[in-house]
Amino acid sequence: MSEPPLRLTLDSSALVANWRWLRAEGGQADCGAAVKADGYGLGAAAVVERFAAAGCRDFFVATWDEAEALKDLPAGAALSVLHGVRSADMPRALASKARPVLNSPAQVARWKAAGGGACDVMVDTGMNRLGLTIEEARSGLLEGLRIETLMSHLACAEEADHGLNMQQLYAFRLAKGFVKAKRYSLANSAGICLGPRYAFDLTRPGLALYGGVPTPAAEGHIRPVVRLEAQLIQRRMVRAGQTVGYGATFTAPAEMQVGILNIGYADGYLRAFAGKGHALVDGVRCPLIGRVSMDLVAVDLGQTHAGEGDWLEIGYDLAQAAAVTGLSQYELLTGLGGRYQRRWT
Ligand SMILES: *Cc1c(COP(=O)(O)O)cnc(C)c1O
Repeated sequence: MSEPPLRLTLDSSALVANWRWLRAEGGQADCGAAVKADGYGLGAAAVVERFAAAGCRDFFVATWDEAEALKDLPAGAALSVLHGVRSADMPRALASKARPVLNSPAQVARWKAAGGGACDVMVDTGMNRLGLTIEEARSGLLEGLRIETLMSHLACAEEADHGLNMQQLYAFRLAKGFVKAKRYSLANSAGICLGPRYAFDLTRPGLALYGGVPTPAAEGHIRPVVRLEAQLIQRRMVRAGQTVGYGATFTAPAEMQVGILNIGYADGYLRAFAGKGHALVDGVRCPLIGRVSMDLVAVDLGQTHAGEGDWLEIGYDLAQAAAVTGLSQYELLTGLGGRYQRRWT
């Protein structure tokens, strides 16, 4: 079988270094890892193996399908399913070693009625997404549950000065006062960067593990993990006045050399990169020209000698790419899709 014409090179030591930096920022707290959405697009099994080898023991996925895909968890590791349990999930949830994160009174009632054992609970402290309200958490409905981790999630941690951060911190401290759990957990990647009082007993970073820079405080500390490369499948000369690609949106100002690369929006390289993205040939920037197709893009090869079969790096610095395209760093990672060969170094 031949190799696919596009690939991700994934840096194990950068991945682990990012986890270690986030763990240190959390002070005494344990540091977990959010590995939902297939490890933010990198491959959940591969990242879990690397984090576990570094000492990580707490993992978070969104759904029971994602939990099942990780059934070969290393010994001593715990897995939490953030979206909790619908009735349809109960047979799998009861048979699974993973714990549900109970989010609503109905989920709590369902888990209790089934005698479900250890669980986590999410309390909402101001985001109004998933979780019991403070009043529900105080109402006694949690009595009788064996709660491993009480957690909440920050809505605005990317903005250190946002007033909601402190409000959520105080609301979570309040909840901690009346909900008995083994551990308490509030901070995602950006929350860790707000300082150690947000860390409690366990942090839950995702984005920053994979090279995303959640806040300016993390700049210079988080290492890139993902490198994108696509193969040049055709080199062509385009004459002055001719156009390139769908919609003929690019017109050659002079005779030029154009490279057609095997990557497109079906690979998560979205149309937002048109006019903004670039590939690199020996360090020389070759700007994207025309629209992004489903499976292809065109670049201006300039004076470079890139030829058919060459591998070109695609500019994919997450913070920079997010700034120029308006996409989030999360979207840039989780959209990468299944057509890449994923190679770990
Ligand atoms: C996704 C998620 C995280 C990880 O968030 P990042 O911003 O990627 O660090 C943590 N906790 C919960 C509840 C999540 O849904």
